[in-house]
Amino acid sequence: MPEIRSGRHVVVLGGGYTGMFTAIRLAHRTRRTGVRITLVNPSGRFVERLRLHQVAAGQELAVHRIPDLLNGTGVQFVQGTATALDPEARRITVDGSLHLGYDTLVYALGSRTDTGNVPGADTHAFTLDGPEAAGRFGARAAELAASGGRVTVCGGGLTGIEAATELAEAHPGLDITLISSEEPGAMMGDQARAYLHRALDRLGITVTSGVRVARVLPDAVELTDGRTLRSDACLWTAGVAVSPLAADSKIATDDRGLILTDATLRSVSHPEIHAVGDAASVRMTWGRLHGSCQSGLPTAQYTADTIARLVRGRSVKPFRFGYFHQPVSLGRRDAVIQFTRADFTPVRLRLTGRAAVLYKEFVSGTPLTTYRYSKRVNMTTFVSKGARASLEPAA
Ligand SMILES: Cc1cc2nc3c(=O)[nH]c(=O)nc-3n(C[C@H](O)[C@H](O)[C@H](O)COP(=O)(O)OP(=O)(O)OC[C@H]3O[C@@H](n4cnc5c(N)ncnc54)[C@H](O)[C@@H]3O)c2cc1C
Repeated sequence: MPEIRSGRHVVVLGGGYTGMFTAIRLAHRTRRTGVRITLVNPSGRFVERLRLHQVAAGQELAVHRIPDLLNGTGVQFVQGTATALDPEARRITVDGSLHLGYDTLVYALGSRTDTGNVPGADTHAFTLDGPEAAGRFGARAAELAASGGRVTVCGGGLTGIEAATELAEAHPGLDITLISSEEPGAMMGDQARAYLHRALDRLGITVTSGVRVARVLPDAVELTDGRTLRSDACLWTAGVAVSPLAADSKIATDDRGLILTDATLRSVSHPEIHAVGDAASVRMTWGRLHGSCQSGLPTAQYTADTIARLVRGRSVKPFRFGYFHQPVSLGRRDAVIQFTRADFTPVRLRLTGRAAVLYKEFVSGTPLTTYRYSKRVNMTTFVSKGARASLEPAA
């Protein structure tokens, strides 16, 4: 069995938004230090997860190949899935047969839609977990649009809102119901929320909130209040789950399987493991970070810098971060941006309409621009460092 091990070796698990940024920035920051970096990801294509609702609405995304994005960085790319992790031996198994030893591990496995909690969701619902899954749902939605079919979008968080509005704009013939336990946009200020609801109305989306889905059937969804809604296709966006790899490997995790980190984003049980993005449980002074690119990219930037400092024997300061905005697309022609305090609570400032569309598009394109420039300069993804990671482990 092949084994890669020599010198100081950093393995980055996961080539999504945060793994990619960590690898590229770290390569730049550790040039001429002899550090080797390997990035492991199942697909050779970089998935722009932020845009998968666009795929569901029938749009084609640009294809970005991971080897091209890494070109010139010296980062070695291994295409495969991490199937086992032995933190005591500091060894990862890829696709059951390739073993990679590491001195430092960056755990960036992200998250996927949680279809495990409601009966029928795993078998009967569509998800936006990757371009293929989003494309399958898109094909079904297009078919249904021709006959005025009904789609239920389960989950009224930002992903559900973006998916429902994008679909409604692309397929005015679809009958779309957005089902949400909370009022959609509950975390926005009054005016941004009112704008959002006017957009949902204008696009003909029925909102059913204050209720949960109890069961997904092949042609309907049952709600916890006893109602059954006809559903020719159900898109599940309610909640995310993470890979069981960390918990299975006896790395300390929270009850959802996210790696518990200290104030420097290192595992509290295995400090040679750094956790970033959706797979990291990070507690700030006001509470936990939630999975988003907005917080994920700063965790990646900080982690690349932290590893570079540790390589040089320097000290490390705690992670600092503050939220800044909640950008939400409402189809291609409308959007609403709610600006926030560091703890994600809304302030008065908001942006709507054309200016918001341009803003949102800029935000969605920022990761790829950042990767390109990070090969040569230290780009920053922090807008606000408004608060500090807690010195206590996130429990
Ligand atoms: C439709 C949609 C819209 C969104 N819009 C926004 C938005 O507007 N703003 C925002 O901030 N956030 C948004 N998000 C959330 C955002 O996409 C995630 O927070 C972000 O992708 C997290 O980055 P990550 O690197 O942690 O994980 P990911 O980007 O998911 O990357 C994880 C990577 O790990 C790989 N991987 C998984 N398992 C293994 C394994 N065993 N071995 C090797 N590799 C593995 C995956 O294939 C993937 O490439 C959206 C999400 C969705 C689904």
